[in-house]
Amino acid sequence: MSDHSFVFSEKPIRIDRGEGVFLHASDGTRYLDMGASYACTPAGHGHPEVVGRTTEAMEELFYVQASYPHDERDRLYTALAETAPGDVDYTWLCNSGTEANEAALKFARSATGRSKIVATTRGFHGRTMGALACTWKDKYKKPFEPLIGDVEFVPYGDVEAMLEAVDRETAGVILEPLQGEGGINPASARYLQAVRVATATSGAALIMDEIQTGLGRTGSFWASDRKLVVPDILTTAKGLANGLPIGATLCREWVAEGAGPHGSTFSGGPTICAAANATIDVIHDEGLHENAERVGDYMRAELDERIGEEIRDIRGDGLMVGLEVKRGANRMLRDLALNHQLLALPAGRTVVRLLPPLTLTTEEADMAVNAITEVVTG
Ligand SMILES: *Cc1c(COP(=O)(O)O)cnc(C)c1O
Repeated sequence: MSDHSFVFSEKPIRIDRGEGVFLHASDGTRYLDMGASYACTPAGHGHPEVVGRTTEAMEELFYVQASYPHDERDRLYTALAETAPGDVDYTWLCNSGTEANEAALKFARSATGRSKIVATTRGFHGRTMGALACTWKDKYKKPFEPLIGDVEFVPYGDVEAMLEAVDRETAGVILEPLQGEGGINPASARYLQAVRVATATSGAALIMDEIQTGLGRTGSFWASDRKLVVPDILTTAKGLANGLPIGATLCREWVAEGAGPHGSTFSGGPTICAAANATIDVIHDEGLHENAERVGDYMRAELDERIGEEIRDIRGDGLMVGLEVKRGANRMLRDLALNHQLLALPAGRTVVRLLPPLTLTTEEADMAVNAITEVVTG
């Protein structure tokens, strides 16, 4: 069931066209897309460069298995390594976020010869058995247990608890630099750097899940950059191919040695790699990370001025924004969608989450601020 079932069940919104930060429904209504389908379309809908280069690649060679080297795949390896914090020795391509994390957990285990994973409260890492075991909320896990064992949870942001949990049995620590699904919860640079030191000292792999925070979302290409942390493994997915399914696990040399016999049939086909290369180029060429920082700061400041007193909290970095509201998030999202033609997302019961395309202008941000203000004060 989608988190959006509250809208779909009462008044289905059937989307059939997209343009920039707007989605057009079949009944002719135009919506401002402030959710970007969970950060999956950083370059906006129908970006001509992404569409053009993907279409061209498709016509050239729709698909070929990864054992044949291909220019688009090589370019993507290079592009990801060039943007990544620290040296990337090996990148594994897959088809989703949970798979990228699943690979990260496997590589951490085999590179260290250990099995324990430390994860954080309110973290979200995906829905396959390993990634799910590292996900906090029982709601996602309970019906499927037992999951993989040997996962210890520590409170997100608590340095002491992390230092205590990470020991010589620990294969890896997995966490988000800014939690998305868990409520847009920021971590300080100091905390993340302490986790970096703890993992390095114990010989465990630091797995930074940048599946939601990456690709310019928080104002730098990766959130790890802002926090001055170099993880051993960085995972990305969601917006990497602007809406086509892809994931990647970026590894430093010592963890790359743990990759062993891991693999996937659809690892990095030419079409998907072309879409990802075009997306990364658009982010660089149009400075979308800088735009995210600028428009994100502007939007949060405006929201603070207009409704700061009416809601509990406004938080986040760049264009990853959480509004903790007094009445339920779903009620507000429904009101925004049906009465103001604005689509956003929940992050738990009380947080409205904004993850618009990173092309959002200040004028478009104003539209969102006006709609949100009307709903909150109305
Ligand atoms: C969405 C998400 C995932 C899972 O990605 P899927 O593509 O849905 O498997 C993992 N981690 C984070 C931080 C996410 O936001």
